[in-house]
Amino acid sequence: MNDKVFGHLINGEWVTSNEVTTNTSPSDTSDVIGQYAIGTADDCTRAIAAARRAATAWGRSGLEERKAILDTIGAELIARKDEIGRLLSREEGKPLAEGIGEVARAGQFFQYHAAQVLSPTGEAVDSVRPGIEVEVKREALGVIGIITPWNFPVAVAAWKIAPALAYGNAVVLKPAELVPASAWVLADIIDRSGIPAGVFNMVMGPGREVGEALATSPDIDAITFTGSVPIGRRIARNAIENMTKIQLEMGSKNALVVLNDADLDVAVQCAIAGAFSGTGQKCTASSRLIVEDAVHDEFVDKLVAAMQELVVGAALDSATQIGPVVDARQYQQVLNYIELAKQEGATLVQGGEAITLDTEGYFLAPTLFTNTTNEMRINREEVFGPLACVIKATDYDHALEISNDSEFGLTSGIITQSLKYASHFKQYSNSGCVMVNLPTAGTDYHVPFGGRKSSSYGPREQGQYAQEFYTIVKTNYSKPY
Ligand code: NAD
Repeated sequence: MNDKVFGHLINGEWVTSNEVTTNTSPSDTSDVIGQYAIGTADDCTRAIAAARRAATAWGRSGLEERKAILDTIGAELIARKDEIGRLLSREEGKPLAEGIGEVARAGQFFQYHAAQVLSPTGEAVDSVRPGIEVEVKREALGVIGIITPWNFPVAVAAWKIAPALAYGNAVVLKPAELVPASAWVLADIIDRSGIPAGVFNMVMGPGREVGEALATSPDIDAITFTGSVPIGRRIARNAIENMTKIQLEMGSKNALVVLNDADLDVAVQCAIAGAFSGTGQKCTASSRLIVEDAVHDEFVDKLVAAMQELVVGAALDSATQIGPVVDARQYQQVLNYIELAKQEGATLVQGGEAITLDTEGYFLAPTLFTNTTNEMRINREEVFGPLACVIKATDYDHALEISNDSEFGLTSGIITQSLKYASHFKQYSNSGCVMVNLPTAGTDYHVPFGGRKSSSYGPREQGQYAQEFYTIVKTNYSKPY
């Protein structure tokens, strides 16, 4: 291993810290990815100050300059998707195809927002007073703090950084501790894009110190966070002290409803993709499978057969369909929930155990429980692993009621051939994104993304809706003559 320490990007310079962390792969804990600096609250304060100094000029910069920089970042991500996707998969544990797909998607976020730079946002309207003109404009907020989770280390960062920069804001990024390599590569690409020093800064390190310093700073204008509900709540409380604008994307407990008239092959494909891709570590994962009585047994049999075909392995192994979970803590958390489900009286029909492979990694068998009720903790709390539970429903209305009975509301899905039920579900499912005959995970990059209830707080992310968070509205009045 070489002794290079990958540092933070502050004011256009790479700086290290006294403390470093050794980043290893969850597929093989002896595989060392590199040494990464652990930042402090002081590093964060310096990054915020650099962003503040750079923000005014960047907010006034030419549209073509901003567009060119975002295009350059997007193009490099897409050109290097195989190499960076490999690093991401090695570091986070998702299978290589998913890692490559995530990096390409991150490039598309930058390209989309590059195009948005030239998309007019203001409007001119008539005044109620004769002879007066009114303009409604959107302006940059200033400095945006960005805090990201480990499960989509490049894509989530990209879908926040790209609109922040496009609308003329300076940025301080605090990536998740578990995935500094992915964050570092993204920061390196942004740094070499021609962006002025200080407009984009990145400080790695623990949430309780660096994240806390960002969220409690009176010198940022807005904070956007993706992660767990408890940390989201804490950030909200901290931010409101300074009247800082907030956007929170958090956990969920997404339901996939399977009706009697469903094509069961489609239902099984959607359940497999929704519950187990990304090793179930997706905020959009289908962890509750709500199945109508008459097809329950056949659906479960088919799903179990499909699960038995899934190959669990190291992220970079070409045969792997399900990688390891991200770390020892996540591994133990899933095993604890498996025990809890048994104690609650659920029936284990598939998986339920750790898997031993040639390398020391955090491998778990895809797991399915039946005979569960929506009141059980296993169906109310986010597990964030390769585990799904089947809940029986007597009819469509019952299935909809169970689906909506959750603290969360990010995505939901229904598998049916009935236009009547599909339309009704789209209208009355209480979630931010509704899928018909599609997995609950998997969304586009040019339309809004976000949830309801404890899953989200504040304006939507992505697409044109992103401007709601990353800009502030100004109303100008003038009397020209
Ligand atoms: P987490 O809440 O533990 O951490 C998220 C980020 O917050 C990390 O960068 C962490 O360092 C930082 N942080 C921790 N304590 C902090 C504090 N006191 N102040 C400021 N920042 C702090 O979440 P995680 O384990 O990294 O990610 C998994 C969670 O993210 C799951 O709940 C998942 O559902 C959610 N998630 C949601 C979406 C979405 O779009 N809704 C997308 C991906 C992940």
